[in-house]
Amino acid sequence: MLKRAASLLLATVAIAAPAASQQPMIGYSPANAATERALEASAIKRPSPAVASAHSKQLSRETHVAGTAAQARTRDYVIAEMKKLGIETEARTYNVWMPHPVSVRVSRVSPEPKELTLAEPPVASDPASKLWQYPTVNGYSGEGDVTGEVVYVNYGLIEDYAQLDSLGVSVKGKIAVARYGRSFRGIKAREAEKHGAVALIIYSDPQDDGFVAGDVYPAGPMRNSNGVQRGSILNSNGDPSTPGYGSTNGVTRLAPDRMTIPRIPVVPMSYGNASELLKHVRGVDVPRNWQGGLSFRYHVGPGPVKARVAVKDDRATRPLKPIYNTLGVIRGSEFPDELVIIGGHRDGWGPGAADNVSGTVSVLEAARAIAEEMKTGTKPKRTIVFATWDAEEWGLIGSTEFVEEDSLRLSRGAVAYFNQDVAAQGVRFGGGGSPSLRATLRDIARLVPDPNGKGSVYAEWRKAGVVPDSVEPAMGDPGGGSDFAGFYNHLGIPIAEWGFGGAGGVYHSQYDSYTWMTKFGDPGFQYHAAAARIGAAMLLRVANADVLPYDYAEFARTMRRYFPAIERAVNDREWSASLTALRGSIDRLEHEGAMFNAARDSALATTLPSATLQRTNRSLMNVERALIRPEGLRTRPWFRNLIYVADENNGYANMPLPSINEAIRANDETLTRAEIADLAARFDRAAQAVAEARGALKTR
Ligand SMILES: [Zn+2]
Repeated sequence: MLKRAASLLLATVAIAAPAASQQPMIGYSPANAATERALEASAIKRPSPAVASAHSKQLSRETHVAGTAAQARTRDYVIAEMKKLGIETEARTYNVWMPHPVSVRVSRVSPEPKELTLAEPPVASDPASKLWQYPTVNGYSGEGDVTGEVVYVNYGLIEDYAQLDSLGVSVKGKIAVARYGRSFRGIKAREAEKHGAVALIIYSDPQDDGFVAGDVYPAGPMRNSNGVQRGSILNSNGDPSTPGYGSTNGVTRLAPDRMTIPRIPVVPMSYGNASELLKHVRGVDVPRNWQGGLSFRYHVGPGPVKARVAVKDDRATRPLKPIYNTLGVIRGSEFPDELVIIGGHRDGWGPGAADNVSGTVSVLEAARAIAEEMKTGTKPKRTIVFATWDAEEWGLIGSTEFVEEDSLRLSRGAVAYFNQDVAAQGVRFGGGGSPSLRATLRDIARLVPDPNGKGSVYAEWRKAGVVPDSVEPAMGDPGGGSDFAGFYNHLGIPIAEWGFGGAGGVYHSQYDSYTWMTKFGDPGFQYHAAAARIGAAMLLRVANADVLPYDYAEFARTMRRYFPAIERAVNDREWSASLTALRGSIDRLEHEGAMFNAARDSALATTLPSATLQRTNRSLMNVERALIRPEGLRTRPWFRNLIYVADENNGYANMPLPSINEAIRANDETLTRAEIADLAARFDRAAQAVAEARGALKTR
């Protein structure tokens, strides 16, 4: 899982929020709204902390890395649980290029030669720490056995290398040591390789992820001096041997030398081990803000410390490994070809109680809540799919292969995808997604009690701060880094995601265990249950709506927030490029969105034939699809959605309106003008689809 980017501007002003009872139910006739309210109220009560705890214990009882036998057992567990609920199931297998390590070694060559013990040692109070553990190597590391002087590169960001240049320090032929944080580790690997490093070590510095933030495990929740953050360094999504298409049997695969994968060995490390290297580094003193939390003065180097990094994997003998998605399906009674999907990844780097047993459990408990409601004779109008994905940790592989294989059906029929990645490891609620679904997520959050007993999840969420130009809680924009990417970035399907976060220092470590969860993350499993309550209600709300509950007026208003930064960038460059056309098309989308919302609410006061609803919903589903470009972003064709993407220079930070913002970053005025015109035309088509939906409401 990717850590959420904390890029939202928060203003902590308290403004009275409307009470739950005053909220109209978007997209429902009054009669259907009453039935739906009763159904949701009943379903929300069903997820159980005790059941969540039992699932969590079972699913975290072994290290379940994608491609291992243990991970096949989590597939069997989830399928068996879904079957018990009476849900139709399918396990789907893909064979993907995913080498596993054979041996990983790091040693200090000089001064004082020392072989480092890389594994995370057992903690007496935590049985899971004694399990077999996955070697400490980053997913998709290159192979190699290299020796070189050590250079400390701070976070290994593009600007850090620029600073090294100005200091006259090069990593060429050296072993770069970077700390985790501020960017996706894949970007750190790409930059180290680009600058000529022969290997990269990425370690968790106590200032960012360790004792500076709090007591360390097992005394506290934070990372101890032996804790290691594993994780993939692949910068693309899906199997790198089948870019853009499903890894089904018999497909043509790229040879390894044609794949876009890292070439140098990249190894993650604890701060205990990193200190064995860094404390002896001398040479250039660190620039301002490069000093970390270890108890000695940091230096850039190079050397005199020399290290050796050796990684060997099974790419020559057994590079392809099976991965398994699970699907649970409840068929829709009225619009069976329209799909509402919830999913979470089922693989981890260790026992994975937080990442992502918690998300898997949320999906399972949402499934149980809905399956039990269905036993009372009710049926969802649309088909509901409960998915668990494999190999998310390696590069969103299971969900990406699924989306690539099933793109036609999903493009036609998927009305929403909900993602559960780290659904519960604390008490602080966060949610986000496509601006079209935010009103629905807020409405559901009003219905679910916060486990702290003080009010709704929504009320607690709002206390944490509202967006400056609104009375609503801040929502995250979908940049990248979890399984929604295939649905959102590739196909333009509206998405939402949510979860309860908190202080944690066991991310991608063997210590992300059931014991850690019961001591620190969610001791009573109340937040696991709360995430599932939101999931069950979100699924039912969208699955049963007469008219799909998207809000394109809010969507357009959200887009306008991104204008000032673009205008500033254009003015700074003294370009004459104008945003007038884009502003006009977004105004039209807002206008059409508001007109549609009013027309929908009055039309729903009467009884609408099913065919009318179907035509209306068909047009609504075209709105966000109009904002994808089939040929994708200029730099990354797989990313077709022109609304949000992960910043390609950071990997975590979100970039809104990327076709324009990347053209500005490339300092290309002609391209910027062309991209503004292109996006304006697409917003016009989106507004047109909203207008068509309004027209369809009048057809009989
Ligand atoms: Zn995850």
